Amino acid sequence: MKMSKLFVQTLREFPSDAEVISHKMLVRAGFIRKLSMGIYNYLPLMWRVLKKVEKIVREEMDRAGAQELLMPFVQPKELWEESGRWGAYGGELMRLKDRHGREMCLGPTHEEIITAIARDGLKSYKQLPVNLYQIQSKFRDERRPRFGLLRGREFIMKDAYSFAASQEEMEAEYKNMWEAYTRIFKRCGLETKAVQSDSGAIGGSVSHEFMVITDTDAGENDVFYCDCGYAANSNHAVSKLAENIKTAGDWEQAKIVDTPNTHTIEELCEFLKIPATLIVKTLVYIVDKKTVLALIRADKAIEETKLMNAVGGSDIRIATTGEIEEMMVVNGFDGEKGFIGPNGLKEYNGYPIMVVADETVKDMKNFVIGVNKKDVHGVGYNWNVDVNMPEVVSDIRLVEAGEFCSICGKPLKVTRGIEVGNIFQLGTKYSKPMNAVYLDQNGKTQPYIMGCYGIGISRTAAAAVEAHHDEQGIKWPLAIAPYHAIVIPVSTKDELQMKVAEDIYKTLLKHGVEVVLDDRDERAGVKFKDADLIGFPYRITVGKGISEGLVEFKIRETEEILNIKPEDAAEVVVTAVHNLK
Ligand code: ATP
Ligand code: MG
Repeated sequence: MKMSKLFVQTLREFPSDAEVISHKMLVRAGFIRKLSMGIYNYLPLMWRVLKKVEKIVREEMDRAGAQELLMPFVQPKELWEESGRWGAYGGELMRLKDRHGREMCLGPTHEEIITAIARDGLKSYKQLPVNLYQIQSKFRDERRPRFGLLRGREFIMKDAYSFAASQEEMEAEYKNMWEAYTRIFKRCGLETKAVQSDSGAIGGSVSHEFMVITDTDAGENDVFYCDCGYAANSNHAVSKLAENIKTAGDWEQAKIVDTPNTHTIEELCEFLKIPATLIVKTLVYIVDKKTVLALIRADKAIEETKLMNAVGGSDIRIATTGEIEEMMVVNGFDGEKGFIGPNGLKEYNGYPIMVVADETVKDMKNFVIGVNKKDVHGVGYNWNVDVNMPEVVSDIRLVEAGEFCSICGKPLKVTRGIEVGNIFQLGTKYSKPMNAVYLDQNGKTQPYIMGCYGIGISRTAAAAVEAHHDEQGIKWPLAIAPYHAIVIPVSTKDELQMKVAEDIYKTLLKHGVEVVLDDRDERAGVKFKDADLIGFPYRITVGKGISEGLVEFKIRETEEILNIKPEDAAEVVVTAVHNLK
């Protein structure tokens, strides 16, 4: 490819709406252009990268024994009603109607469709296990599309689904996919950590996410991990707390005391001269449409996904001050945020108010708690004497670094990660309600035991930019770079330089290297800037040194520069490219 013909417009500046490196770089280097919120055009350079990620994914999925198919992007409501998700899937599901008024949705994921396909085709245990996958665009009307390709509304995903006749068979396939994923991300030039995670809207019990660890804002997930090998997403992480902590107060009896203007835990602690570990904090959430009070020891914080799961909802947010005040008034109190407690709060917005306690409050005694009255608190309170122990007691606590590993007891560490793939043990979550069954050895019908396995193709490409760049631009891993190399003649007017550059270009092409010849009549500085920004792994510059038979060879990843013979430079590139296969 000649640079003069390559369809690419690099920009002088980063786009103003981009927050993270991969978004900034991919726009500035001419890989993507925004069409609408969370929807991007993949321009030729980007499409080359995406096709390479797809190719690696296909090769490893096929090698692992999975079979590729392609399902429709538009899906009928009926199947989603069978699984029970038409109502349960939140605002991310893009629903639409056709001209006959039939309801459809844009596929955010394909469990329903694949389960219907399996139910048609897999009738006997002899056909199992089977793993089917596709690579396709998905649409999710994300609440916060951001970060360019990392969290788009339309994005490309590889989704695979396995069908097995037993738990063991399914677990073997789960392991098989784990190994395939490890190979895929390694081949893409990415180091990943597999971490335990919450199963979210997809369902099931066991699941792991493959995270690209990063210290940038692009890492939307907190990952807690320990030297012993434990690693989990914050939405699923558990920990042990220090034991020698004071959780029982010294009050001799329960009473209500004045605590004027103590709107925060800090103010309350200071006023009562007590540690936060003696206070039961009450937070108000809206889960789907229901009001939920979450109680937790006041030195700790709530993990919203854990709370949502404890309630059995699919959408969670903290209540607004307006809602809290209204809830108080409706229940006959004139309380205020900062003084809330579970006693006497019964109903709001047509639903009973539910109370969920974190495990940290279970053993607290003689504690402090809000009583829904401004400027006072209850002190010396005890469970089931002064306030009822909530029916639901569950781990809804956000783990913090420094707390202790529940497996080995060492302090947990925290880092951030970009989830590039995940694997789920679904069990019969879809096969049962959809009556997707096979005949077992005894001629009895049984629902398939399923697994599902996703990889964000476009997110993986963006994550590679997060992991490989410097201030000048992208440093593509060779395996997924849009082109392997660029050859730059410093002066296109210099006949010798041009001739050598063209020779190297042709040699590289002949050996299967994907290479660009920068034939533009531009200053060398401009060409170097573009080459660094776009992120060619290898750059061969033909300049004045050619009079001594040398070219400048630059390795983008390490920024190493060598002055070597043209044939030596070509050989390094050809060998590296051949070693990819
Ligand atoms: P997240 O928690 O980041 O929203 P998810 O749990 O919803 O991800 P899955 O439904 O399991 O993701 O989808 C499989 C893969 O698809 C993810 O591991 C991720 O790589 C990718 N993916 C999910 N949502 C998006 C998105 N909005 N934009 C780009 N890629 C995405
Ligand atoms: Mg999601």
